[in-house]
Amino acid sequence: MEQHETILEVRSLKKYFPIEKGFFRRTVGHVKAVDDVSFQLQRGEVLGLVGESGCGKTTLGRCILRAMNATSGEILLKTRDADIVDITTLNKRELRALRKEMNMVFQDPFSSLSPRMTVLDIIGEPLWAQGMRGRQLETRVKELASLVGLNAGHLNRYPNAFSGGQRQRIGIARALATNPNLIVADEPVSSLDVSIQAQILNLLQDLKEELNLTYLFIAHDLSVVEHIADRVAVMYVGKIVELSETEDLYLNPKHPYTEALLSAVPKPDPRIKGNQIILQGEVANPADPPSGCYFHPRCKYAKDVCKTTAPPLTEVKPGHYAACHFADELELEGVMV
Ligand code: SF4
Repeated sequence: MEQHETILEVRSLKKYFPIEKGFFRRTVGHVKAVDDVSFQLQRGEVLGLVGESGCGKTTLGRCILRAMNATSGEILLKTRDADIVDITTLNKRELRALRKEMNMVFQDPFSSLSPRMTVLDIIGEPLWAQGMRGRQLETRVKELASLVGLNAGHLNRYPNAFSGGQRQRIGIARALATNPNLIVADEPVSSLDVSIQAQILNLLQDLKEELNLTYLFIAHDLSVVEHIADRVAVMYVGKIVELSETEDLYLNPKHPYTEALLSAVPKPDPRIKGNQIILQGEVANPADPPSGCYFHPRCKYAKDVCKTTAPPLTEVKPGHYAACHFADELELEGVMV
């Protein structure tokens, strides 16, 4: 990975959805889906963003691509011309021009591809939108198809002729069409058979190396990002609670929530039995989160201070951040990677 060329910087990003009540739709509260999130992404890096469903990770990905507007904060993207633009402030025309620089691979390859378009049209659509036509467009689509392991014979077929894994290959080819700086992959393998998941993960990894791609890779469990992510951010109720290089996070977690997620990662040798931590209770409600540390009702290490004071995300050791009052003291159990 090339170091120190920041492609994306997210600063204090918030996305609050108002809760409205009554005839006059008075705002009576907010669902804090993303609550003061900051991180950077370097060129060629894969940042895994992990958390249970409802933790805000997909909302964060959608805000970054401006598929929805953030409530506040900055999203700074380095463009191909080396300009730094704040995505949150762009108007429609500026945003359209920037679309080619960032793209998304969706979770569900069945619903994300139009059943009425051929594969050629699906992969070619973003190129068409950028003004490419005719033979040039067809040649580029063939190139992209071959990159993701499809052949020219596939191009005139419709998505329903393909398996889930092949459809995801089509979705990846479309995401790569305009040569983007940044790809947000939103649970790209979670709806696929386990046997196919590894193929798609390997494909994403190979493409990353071949094209020096930068991914924000969203997943709901840590086993999926284990081999592809350079760093991992763990989210809980709209906030990043731990962020570190992948190996260090797996071997030496510093947040009890990460420890619990890691305990559910399948062990390479099934004879090795880890102590799976069964989290009690539900994920906190982002419309009415608990006081202090949001994780305290489910945390087996919680003390009185956890109920009253929210722990900030702090650097526990170089490059390893955690939001836990006892991150320095707890000896948490990791897993081998
Ligand atoms: Fe658990 Fe307290 Fe740390 Fe929160 S601050 S994770 S409740 S020990």
